[in-house]
Amino acid sequence: MSALLIKDILALPPDGREICTNGWVRTKRESKSVCFLEISDGSTIHNLQIVIDLPNNPLSNVISTISTGASIRVKGNLVPSQGSGQSKEIAAKDIFIYGTAPADEYPLQKKRHSFEFLREIAHLRPRTNTFGAIARVRSSMSFAIHTFFQERGFVYVHTPIITGSDCEGAGQMFQVTTLPLENVPMKEGTVDYTEDFFGKKASLTVSGQLEGETYALALTRIYTFGPTFRAENSNTSRHLAEFWMVEPEVAFCDIIGNMNLAEEFIKYILTWLLDKCADDMNFFNSRIDNNLIFTLENIIKNRFERITYTEAISLLEKSGENFEFPPKWGNDLQSEHERYITEKAFKKPVIITDYPKEIKAFYMKLNDDEKTVRAMDVLVPRLGEIIGGSEREADYDKLKNRMLELGLNPDDYWWYLDLRRFGTVPHSGFGLGFERLIQFVTGMQNIRDVIPYPRCVKTLEF
Ligand code: ATP
Ligand code: MN
Repeated sequence: MSALLIKDILALPPDGREICTNGWVRTKRESKSVCFLEISDGSTIHNLQIVIDLPNNPLSNVISTISTGASIRVKGNLVPSQGSGQSKEIAAKDIFIYGTAPADEYPLQKKRHSFEFLREIAHLRPRTNTFGAIARVRSSMSFAIHTFFQERGFVYVHTPIITGSDCEGAGQMFQVTTLPLENVPMKEGTVDYTEDFFGKKASLTVSGQLEGETYALALTRIYTFGPTFRAENSNTSRHLAEFWMVEPEVAFCDIIGNMNLAEEFIKYILTWLLDKCADDMNFFNSRIDNNLIFTLENIIKNRFERITYTEAISLLEKSGENFEFPPKWGNDLQSEHERYITEKAFKKPVIITDYPKEIKAFYMKLNDDEKTVRAMDVLVPRLGEIIGGSEREADYDKLKNRMLELGLNPDDYWWYLDLRRFGTVPHSGFGLGFERLIQFVTGMQNIRDVIPYPRCVKTLEF
């Protein structure tokens, strides 16, 4: 008899049929006459109850070696449950132990553990309710993202992980090298990169955008979904050194089209989540944030607010709030500002556009005022920025000027500039941090708890 997943068993009627399943023991309760095992296989947030009638049962010996964490196979009949808490259970006829888990050593006993502690045993934390649910939500959201774009004619493009263009976050990039660090070849006082693997300086990508643009200007609608790396030297609850980013890029599309896409996209994946991950979402709603589902439903129902950066600054100035960093035109919005705007002023997601060019990247389209660029950030309550995007500069001269102003060498970007020489078109795109999204939809406080193995400054275990 082939084994079933617990999620599939729980969907069956308890008609006494014979069933075989596998799992890890969550709890064992025993009296003289009966033993109850709760087992989980991670296919669902729910456990399956196994009942073994004890007197004169040859399974007694087996049961005595089972404790929390043990892995077992169970054969028995699926029957209605007598107890409360579950509607069906397995009346066991046979139990096989794959592996025991010594009770004095297995760290996941049935008590609540802090997320900090669980980070230290990240290899075992997926066996807990919370981290199992996060893993399933991540998986389902990935599928939702692909489905959203595939249904709309977007082509999935795999942009490189190792890059030679240290564009945007120069200071934030991890270098990739095979040079011996204890004896680096030098030439005229600087590192001789011609001796390095690629014959030039190389790094891990901070974004697939620039390469993505080249494909958008051939295939019209594309998206990337892959890992990105930033040497963020800050210990925040919203930054990782390795995270996954979703980056759609669309040709023949201005900033309005870009905002519409971002809003439709977020609403689509949230609707998907509440529909397809209802059990896990109910768990997050009861254990992590009691307002979670209400908040997400409101986001789906309401139109996102859209204001300019200049409007946002004046709103903040007039707020009467006592900000640690007083808002000032020309400075980036601080997290406290983002929270005021989304949580107090509008109580919903807000798209902020037209930021000062000084605080945004070189490739964003310059507005006619020559002071602001067509950037758009999507801010959500509690978290702040979840999406950053823009209409791209499509004019060759303006783009080149901007590079020179910022001290970038246009020769390094010859292929990117070529896009503006040959068949240039208005085009736009954005980046969504996948872990920020998961953090937002699960209510988890720390981004380190929504990725299996977080990589952060001074943290590289597992
Ligand atoms: P922030 O201002 O929040 O540091 P950013 O402006 O540097 O973000 P972008 O370059 O616009 O970020 O990147 C696009 C998206 O990637 C962001 O909106 C965010 O969702 C996500 N993101 C950026 N940096 C990180 C990080 N270190 N860890 C996880 N997600 C990130
Ligand atoms: Mn940003």
